[in-house]
Amino acid sequence: MTEMNATESSEKKSLNFIEQIVEKDLKEGKNGGRVQTRFPPEPNGYLHIGHAKAICMDFGIAKKYGGVCNLRFDDTNPTKEDVEYVESIKEDIQWLGFQWGNEYYASDYFQQLWDFAIRLIKEGKAYVDEQTSEEIAAQKGTPTQPGTESPYRNRPVEESLDLFQKMNAGEIEEGKMVLRAKIDMASPNMHFRDPIIYRVVKTPHHRTGDTWKAYPMYDFAHGQSDYFEGVTHSLCTLEFVPHRPLYDLFVDWVKEGKDLDDNRPRQYEFNKLNLSYILLSKRNLLILVKEGLVNGWDDPRMPTLCGFRRRGYSPESIHKFVDKIGYTTYDALNDFALLESAVREDLNARATRVSAVLNPVKLILTNYPEGQVEEMEAVNNPEDPNSPVHTIEFSRELWIEREDFMENAPKKYFRMTPGQEVRLKNAYIVKCTGCKKDEDGNVIEVYAEYDPHTKSGMPEANRKVKGTLHWVSCNHCLKAEVRLYDRLWKVENPRDAMAAIREEKNCSALEAMKEMINPDSLNILQECYVEKFLADSKPLDYLQFQRIGYFTPDKDSTPDHLVFNRTVSLKDTWSKISRK
Ligand code: ATP
Ligand code: MG
Repeated sequence: MTEMNATESSEKKSLNFIEQIVEKDLKEGKNGGRVQTRFPPEPNGYLHIGHAKAICMDFGIAKKYGGVCNLRFDDTNPTKEDVEYVESIKEDIQWLGFQWGNEYYASDYFQQLWDFAIRLIKEGKAYVDEQTSEEIAAQKGTPTQPGTESPYRNRPVEESLDLFQKMNAGEIEEGKMVLRAKIDMASPNMHFRDPIIYRVVKTPHHRTGDTWKAYPMYDFAHGQSDYFEGVTHSLCTLEFVPHRPLYDLFVDWVKEGKDLDDNRPRQYEFNKLNLSYILLSKRNLLILVKEGLVNGWDDPRMPTLCGFRRRGYSPESIHKFVDKIGYTTYDALNDFALLESAVREDLNARATRVSAVLNPVKLILTNYPEGQVEEMEAVNNPEDPNSPVHTIEFSRELWIEREDFMENAPKKYFRMTPGQEVRLKNAYIVKCTGCKKDEDGNVIEVYAEYDPHTKSGMPEANRKVKGTLHWVSCNHCLKAEVRLYDRLWKVENPRDAMAAIREEKNCSALEAMKEMINPDSLNILQECYVEKFLADSKPLDYLQFQRIGYFTPDKDSTPDHLVFNRTVSLKDTWSKISRK
């Protein structure tokens, strides 16, 4: 291999398969060398982490190849859609750091699609069917057996035209009539067996009001919208593979022999994100919200982008995660631990280190002068050589973690136990002298003596001591509520588990969810103490509570009642639990 070839092939390797396709198309001069993509959410819920994978692909490809990615709301189903969702989707895309070229709506094309449907009826390529959806389904046949033609299939064009007008004028009840494309009831591709392309919906549309009563189906709207807009690469997930021939056929029909050059959108599919212990799909998330199983779309236990944001995930950590998992053409179940490790990696570089005690017990330094207060220096982020510092007050009475003291400790316990020295972070080395207990034997105070020559920065501070503990000063700290989150589901693959439960018990999605939900996914600690520095911390501040984990102030937090969310613990405890 020549040197040139070696470089070329290693570059090829690092491209994902969609990038390889785009580069090939560009080389071949398809679409005049243009790259245009779109992100096409249906505004029927909030975006989730699966959408982030699609967003990074759609916007990423356009950015990389000097093209544009438009945002197109796929709003063809007025019963489920709402402007609230439109707004949240825009906010979430921008939070991920992307900006669309144009904001489009499938509903912008209702007139064009209507005209196209009329043309198809006139050309004998579509007809109004008056059968029920059950009858139509029963005639579909199976992949190995041809379907049965509808008795309405060969009705006169004039009749179909007239009925189609009536469908849209509100004269036909929902479910009584549909418009079907006349393709091939014996096709091995089930999507070609005279697919339904229009149905009646009487709910007003969030943008077009009651102008329309006949609405195009997804398959009749998506490819044509791509074509109208000049999309070149229509990227979607694998479940649309069987739809692709129909996508291409409708694009052929709508092009009407125009544009004989190669200008046309093409659909490419990649694998959906499926994550362990996470249930995606807006339909499912809507049930959780509506039934009150969580506290809204942005509940920090939700896999929505607003949920992750509220929980303290950075957009960069989501990008890191998407880079790690990549894009393939087969379904997989990714480990949630991978997402968490991306978050830790990113927050390690970003988070301000602070002290917080979540399960406090009082430590009294019996030889420290009463009333004395020292201001200790704490580095905001030791990962950053130019990090700023802040001060934390130190005094005779401190809060430490209950788990950091043991009266009768085993050998390898390097924390506080009588006779043993530990370092108090950013302060002194102290030696434990004992504790006081209540009648039930619970430790209520721990005692120690500090060594005044060991303040951080002094020569004797380097004395070898095995444990370092965090603390806050009792008279100089703030009380806070801390919310600890655990996985929302008890089962590793909630998507498949839900399907299995529903099949076995013939029950609703909600009932299946109730069986799978983890009743202990939220643990609220009311009596925590944090250093004063956090008095004016705000949501989206990235914090590390030293030795505990990453945290962020919740939107419920006020100066009088601080509330923090745990983003992720410092170490991966989940995979340890699941390995047991
Ligand atoms: P949901 O089932 O969650 O409602 P959807 O596919 O109906 O998802 P849309 O709003 O229709 O959601 O999809 C917008 C885009 O996001 C589509 O291109 C879709 O393929 C993609 N998408 C949806 N879920 C995932 C996922 N889990 N992983 C990757 N891409 C996804
Ligand atoms: Mg959908």
